[in-house]
Amino acid sequence: MRHRKPIDELTGFQVLDNFQTFDQRNDIYCRSQWDPEIQSDKARAFFEGYFMPNARSRRTDGFSQRDYALRNAAWHVTNILRDVNREETGRKEGFFDHFTSHEEGWPEPYPFESTEEATADLKKIAHLSGADLFGVCGYDERWMYSGIFDERVLDSKPLDIPDDLPHVIVIGESMDVDLTRTVPSALSGSATGLGYSYDALTLLTLAQYIRNLGYRAYATMNDSSLGIPLAVQAGFGEVGRHSLLITPEYGPRLRLGRIFTDLPLDHDTPKKFGVEAFCNICDRCATGCPPKAIPFEPPSDKVHNRSNLIGVAKWTVDAEKCFKFWVNQNTDCSICIRVCPFNRDYKRWYHRLWLRLAGSPLRRLALWLDDKLVDRGRHKSSWWWQSS
Ligand code: SF4
Ligand code: SF4
Repeated sequence: MRHRKPIDELTGFQVLDNFQTFDQRNDIYCRSQWDPEIQSDKARAFFEGYFMPNARSRRTDGFSQRDYALRNAAWHVTNILRDVNREETGRKEGFFDHFTSHEEGWPEPYPFESTEEATADLKKIAHLSGADLFGVCGYDERWMYSGIFDERVLDSKPLDIPDDLPHVIVIGESMDVDLTRTVPSALSGSATGLGYSYDALTLLTLAQYIRNLGYRAYATMNDSSLGIPLAVQAGFGEVGRHSLLITPEYGPRLRLGRIFTDLPLDHDTPKKFGVEAFCNICDRCATGCPPKAIPFEPPSDKVHNRSNLIGVAKWTVDAEKCFKFWVNQNTDCSICIRVCPFNRDYKRWYHRLWLRLAGSPLRRLALWLDDKLVDRGRHKSSWWWQSS
């Protein structure tokens, strides 16, 4: 269950002496609620637009009423779960607070014969409940938020996940590949919303299953911890120049959830498949990002503003520039996902073959082939609506 090498040796994370855990109040979405530098009428309208009839639909392709109608519907299930206790307690579950919509479980732990059996069991139920990826890593306090955001006081409150849960289950939900071809558009935001809605369903089901087996389980989504380092530690993949997780199964199209538990489980081993070396010869995301929020430079501990993690040498996106672009175009953006050569439909054999090439010394050929053979331009929203 334990790795022989230290986890940072396996992941390649460069955590420096000046490392500080991240306070969620500094997350760019939280800052849009309290920080005058980020607050604006446009930012308010941006968030309100996720609810009809406040969506400022227009005639532009990808931003029609129908596009917003689908995007906002895609978020609907997540929004219901998010608001379940919001009025009474101020909890915004799945975003600032862990989910609490659970029934009482079983009083005694179910006697699995081994951690191997328990892990295989959980993996099966995770996939049954809709998970596209499942992995397990150890609890790592470095990636837990030092405080979580409380929108009632517009400041931090203490994290309420117990720190004696040794295992973290990481769940990945893929985002639709065709919808991401229409980025930037309100329509493409449906891929994000549905990713969260499926994530919430899977997380709640799996955490309730663990509780019904007689163990503790705390289901979390964007709240409580940084998802990407835990996903890397759980063997999902590597981090690209655009600061997003890249996996061999879905490239950069993934939403992440975590369940913190005391159910004894085997831990996965971090895997590398050549992403860092590939990003060293590619800058598609940095070139394609309209506000130039993605670095062209090698990984470093440079921080742009208070929304960045301090003390880790890595590629770091300027979240202020990114968010301001979102607000200006009145929907989220994933251009960096659309243009990334790893963004492919890996159900097709020739894309899996490309992945092997990209991870080999022939990576320049892989990049050239992506340039020549894959249309990474924006597809019209009407293309998606008319496709079968
Ligand atoms: S989401 Fe858009 S604005 Fe933000 S980093 Fe990616 S390409 Fe740039
Ligand atoms: S677009 Fe290129 S540089 Fe950016 S994350 Fe993808 S492979 Fe790496």
